[in-house]
Amino acid sequence: MATQAQPEGRSPRAEVSNREIVDHWFDVAADRIGVADDARVVLRSSYREVAVQVPLRQADGRIHCYQGFRVQHNGARGPYKGGVRYHPEVDLDEVRALASLMTWKTALVDVPFGGAKGGIDCDPSELVSDELQKITRSFIDKIAKVIGPQRDIPAPDVNTNAQVMAWMMDEYGKLYGHTPAIVTGKPISLGGSLGREAATGRGVVLCFREAAPLLDLRPDGATVVIQGFGNVGGWAGRIMAQLGAKVIGASDAHGAIHGEAGLDAEALWAHVRAGGRLPDFPGADVITPAELLALECDVLIPAALGGMIHAANADAVNARMIVEGANSPTTPRADEILADKGVLVVPDVLANAGGVIVSYFEWVQNLQHLAWDERKVNDRLGTRMRKAFRAVHHRAREEGESLRVASYALAIERVAQAARDRGYITEADVPYKP
Ligand code: NAD
Repeated sequence: MATQAQPEGRSPRAEVSNREIVDHWFDVAADRIGVADDARVVLRSSYREVAVQVPLRQADGRIHCYQGFRVQHNGARGPYKGGVRYHPEVDLDEVRALASLMTWKTALVDVPFGGAKGGIDCDPSELVSDELQKITRSFIDKIAKVIGPQRDIPAPDVNTNAQVMAWMMDEYGKLYGHTPAIVTGKPISLGGSLGREAATGRGVVLCFREAAPLLDLRPDGATVVIQGFGNVGGWAGRIMAQLGAKVIGASDAHGAIHGEAGLDAEALWAHVRAGGRLPDFPGADVITPAELLALECDVLIPAALGGMIHAANADAVNARMIVEGANSPTTPRADEILADKGVLVVPDVLANAGGVIVSYFEWVQNLQHLAWDERKVNDRLGTRMRKAFRAVHHRAREEGESLRVASYALAIERVAQAARDRGYITEADVPYKP
């Protein structure tokens, strides 16, 4: 599990919240499609929001009461699906935004899920494993009635991992019997899917490979900067390096490093996995997070938190392409600045969808009591990512839109189609597009 994030470098809260970022793009795309105002209210707001107390008696005997959230945004296309984040800055509004993003993401890559997200406002770096386990089990007890393999299926996100998923599955199983399909991102020993841990990073790289020819780039020799060398950033960096790319900069919550000749991505990964902080990585130059963003490179992969590329630092970005591993890393104002600079942005809703695609595969394997080999998982991931990228690129070219607006437009149309078919809305609410 990654160590705790510091907010350094994030968008000043005053500029824009994650919620405003997602709602902004929803509105831009809804305008293009012609979604009626009242239908927008329904499509933008959550179906259900659950807030629970998660008390923990600490070593000093005092009780600390954390807040836990599960937001189910839209279930027109299937059971709600989305990760659970442990972070001190988690609040209901952020979880709402992330849940809504999941609705558009699952629709865009055409997996039969809706969108959800969860979180607890704890700082895992201040908790021992036993405490994390208690918090996790207490959270699941309290949301158990609203989740289920055909209702809502949690997964890992920032500061949660396969171990946390195992505790969740076990706790849910005490109430309802052994139910591997209740969470994805589990350990392989408990029905997790081969390829799931790498899937989001692999999907980021698949998007890079699809987008690279648009800029006459090739993976071999491309220079890469990774902000947030955790699960997503670490896998993306290692897979890029396997393709011959050079990781010249990376950061974590503790700081940033630079190596013009290329950092050894495998050694970085081993260093982080052993609990090391990036600035302590031997042989690299320590730089500031702001300097990292300004490094000249072919591709920048933001893979930390939301709002990290904002109005005050977007102009300094010196990359030809950004592939968004994190959710909402770029504020709308920063997006405009990047567009003016000619930086190609592959948006989060597409670029980091590899995780939910393989989560879908894990769920399917669990429901069928089967285990696929890794090649099958990766091949199917590749097919779905390429199909989604090409549909978005085609739409963007046809309509003269950015990849982000095209992604949202396609996703909203798919959700609207399902909602129309269920009889929730009509063609007057969201025009039909074949
Ligand atoms: P993680 O906890 O494994 O890694 C997060 C990394 O970001 C860590 O290295 C952390 O130190 C670093 N970080 C935190 N604050 C930072 C800061 N201010 N500057 C630089 N680095 C900082 O989390 P993850 O699962 O890799 O998720 C990363 C992002 O990707 C999140 O936005 C998450 O929502 C998104 N995402 C994750 C998945 C997934 O499958 N894990 C899927 C889709 C999207």
